[in-house]
Amino acid sequence: MTDRLYDSDPYISRFTARVVSAEGEWIALDRTAFYPGGGGQEPDRGKLGGLPVTEVKQSEGTVLHRVPGHTFTAGQEVEGFVNWERRYELMKGHTGEHLLFSRLHQLCPEMELVKIAIGQDKKSVMVKGPLDWEIVVKAQEMALEAIEADLPVTIEIVPKDDPSLGEARMKAERIHGDEVRVVSIGEIDRAACAGVHVRSTKEIGMLLVTKFTSARPTADFEVEFQVGGAAKRTALQLSAAALRATESLGARVQDLDRALNNVLRDREMQAEQLRVYEEKALNELIPSRIGGVDLYSGLFGAMDKKMLLDAAARFTEDHAACVLGSAGDRFMLVVACSPDVDMDCAALINEVLSPYGGRGGGKMQFATGGAPTPEHAEDIMVSAIVKIRGILEKNDQENKDE
Ligand SMILES: [Zn+2]
Repeated sequence: MTDRLYDSDPYISRFTARVVSAEGEWIALDRTAFYPGGGGQEPDRGKLGGLPVTEVKQSEGTVLHRVPGHTFTAGQEVEGFVNWERRYELMKGHTGEHLLFSRLHQLCPEMELVKIAIGQDKKSVMVKGPLDWEIVVKAQEMALEAIEADLPVTIEIVPKDDPSLGEARMKAERIHGDEVRVVSIGEIDRAACAGVHVRSTKEIGMLLVTKFTSARPTADFEVEFQVGGAAKRTALQLSAAALRATESLGARVQDLDRALNNVLRDREMQAEQLRVYEEKALNELIPSRIGGVDLYSGLFGAMDKKMLLDAAARFTEDHAACVLGSAGDRFMLVVACSPDVDMDCAALINEVLSPYGGRGGGKMQFATGGAPTPEHAEDIMVSAIVKIRGILEKNDQENKDE
C-alpha cells in the first residue's frame, strides 16, 4: 500500500520517498503525491529523482510510477516533483466539474451522469436527459455565483451506511469497502469521489461552457467546459468573435441571435424565390429549331431532380431533343429525344461527362448523369449542345440526301 499524500493534502507537489520496488520501468514508493488518475481525471506528470514520470497508475492500493531510464533500487530515497501547473488546473477542473454537473442536475433533476473527462486538453461531462442551451447557460451562471461566493470544498470519510449519504450523489456499484469519501461544496453539493480538489470554489476563478453537443450513442449530450485562465482567455476570444459578427450584421451583440435568424430567414426566402423563378424559366423554355427538330436547352441552379426529368419527358414527345442541367452541390444532366429522332442519348451523355469525371446511363432516348462538382457545368452544357446540334444537322442532311 502506498501512502497517498494527495488524499489528505492535494497541495503537496514536492516530496521525498523511499523506493519500495522497481520492476522494469515501474517504480513503487512508500509515499507519493502523484495522483494516479481516476474519476475521469488524468494521472499526474512530473519528475522522480530528476527523471520524467511518463505514466502513473494504481494497482490494488499501490501507486506505480513509470520512469524510463531509471537506476533506482529498493530502499533508495528519491525526490518527487509533481508538475504543479498541470495538476492544479486538473484540480480546478475536477471541482469545476462537480459544480457544473450539480447545477445542471438541480435545474434538470431527471438528468444522469454518464461519463466525465478531466484532462488538460479537454474537460467535459456526458449526460443523459433533456438538456437544452437555456439550462446550460443558467447552470453556468449558477456555477459562477458559487465561485464568487468562495464556498469551502471539504472532504470527509463516512461509513457506507451513514444516513447523511442519502442526499449525496453516488453510484452504489462504484463504492467498494465500508467507507465512502465524500466531497462537499459548501452546502450545495455532496458527491462520492476519490479525486483531488481545490480547497475553495474561488480558486476555480472562472468556469465557461465552450461546447454543447449531441453525444449519441454514448449519451444524450456532452457539455465541454474550461476553468481558470483558459476559461478567461476563451471568453475573450468568443466575445471578440461575437462583437465582430454583430458588426458585420449591423446589430447589437444582445440581438445576435435575432439578427442571425433574420439573415437565415432571408436566405430561405431568396432560395424559394429563385426556385419559383427557375421553375417558370424551365416551363417557358423556348427551343431552337435545327433540321426540323426542336432543341430545348437550359442550365439551372439547384433544380429539383424530378422536375427536371418531368420537363425533359414533356419536351421530347415529338420531333424534339433536350439537354437540361442543374448545378447544385453536384452537377446533374438529362439528355433526351423523341422516338422519331435518331440519337443515342446514353452514349452522348457519357461522352460529354467523362472528361469531367462524371458518368451517366439510361436508354437511347432518355439518359441521366452527373459530375461530382458543379464547377464545369457550363462547359459540359456547351459540349452537349454542340454535339446534339451536330447529330441533328447530320440527320437532316441524310434525310435530304435520301
Ligand atoms: Zn469527482
